[in-house]
Amino acid sequence: MSVESLVSQLKTGLDAPICLTWELTYACNLQCVHCLSSSGQRDHRELSTVEAKRVLDQLRELQVFYINIGGGEPMVRRDFFELVEYSVTPNQHGSGIGVKFSTNGAFIDAEKARRLAAMEYLDIQISLDGVDAVTNDAVRGAGSYDMARRAMDNLAAANFGPFKISVVVTRQNVPQLDQFKALADSYGAQLRVTRLRPSGRGVDSWDHLHPTNLQQREIYDWLMASGENVLTGDSFFHLNALGPSLPGLNMCGAGRVVCLIDPIGDVYACPFVIHDEFRAGNVRDPGGFARVWKQSDLFTSLREPQSAGACASCGAFDACQGGCMAAKFFTGLPLDGPDPECVGGDGEVALAELAATPVAVSLKPRPAMDHTKPARVPVLS
Ligand code: SF4
Ligand code: SF4
Repeated sequence: MSVESLVSQLKTGLDAPICLTWELTYACNLQCVHCLSSSGQRDHRELSTVEAKRVLDQLRELQVFYINIGGGEPMVRRDFFELVEYSVTPNQHGSGIGVKFSTNGAFIDAEKARRLAAMEYLDIQISLDGVDAVTNDAVRGAGSYDMARRAMDNLAAANFGPFKISVVVTRQNVPQLDQFKALADSYGAQLRVTRLRPSGRGVDSWDHLHPTNLQQREIYDWLMASGENVLTGDSFFHLNALGPSLPGLNMCGAGRVVCLIDPIGDVYACPFVIHDEFRAGNVRDPGGFARVWKQSDLFTSLREPQSAGACASCGAFDACQGGCMAAKFFTGLPLDGPDPECVGGDGEVALAELAATPVAVSLKPRPAMDHTKPARVPVLS
């Protein structure tokens, strides 16, 4: 099958998501300034162990082959290991579901590292946003760099194998991309770089943290030159307007191949759009997740052909697809307009026009929920 026909098939949606993120809890020991889910405090409506297992059985029946588990910090859940083991083990509902989970590493001591290393179908992403404590802790909080490095040391000592180091690319750490790669290589790990979105607490930190237009070019050039063994997900397809396309899918998969189940069971089109406008249903609703995925009005409409809007006249539209829906939505830009980080500069112009219109600024969407603990978020200098 050609890439073009694969992409057009994916745009109309699949029987099951291929990139399902499940945030197990809003509770977190850290409170990163760019947290896409504004995590911190546990939500009392969190899915119970029994409910979570029921969701896993539904995913098995849908033949979902792996899930990304996140949070909050998923390891704060007392049933974390129970749920992971339940997921990877086949049962009467179907095959095991592989798990990749994202963590800040706080709870990966030597004993837990050995336990994780002994499990099959499990991958781990340790979050790190700077190659030194100064850069990292400014975003993720005091002590978080040492915490992540300790977890990496423990995983390496337990012979876990090639875990991932997951970096949100910011204005402050773009100059460190080579060093991140060297750090990952030193552990026999794999580097994963993702794009900063203005979601969750990122709504308020995006202006300060997002890479400049010049740096967008730097990221593109770096990925072209050094990105061969670097994972990016769908993060950087807006950069394809700069030249030959980066490897990976150049499309927004929200509601088509991507979705999020949040800790209270709400299903959103993607992890970066926790807002009522992108909430398709709840796994507690009749028919559960399967019904939401297959029949919700929101996902049905996202699988329809989308208008190119203001980007239609841009010669780079086929490569860039107008960028990321979440980035547009939470910066207040129209969904059929240019991405706020449009490499042609159209996004900057649109943002400047928006900033000059007080009514539009006051209507800028805010995330649906905020689980931030009072006065615990690092202060950006
Ligand atoms: S909204 Fe953005 S982050 Fe979400 S799936 Fe689309 S491109 Fe990816
Ligand atoms: S104008 Fe639209 S399609 Fe063109 S580069 Fe910018 S975001 Fe992409």
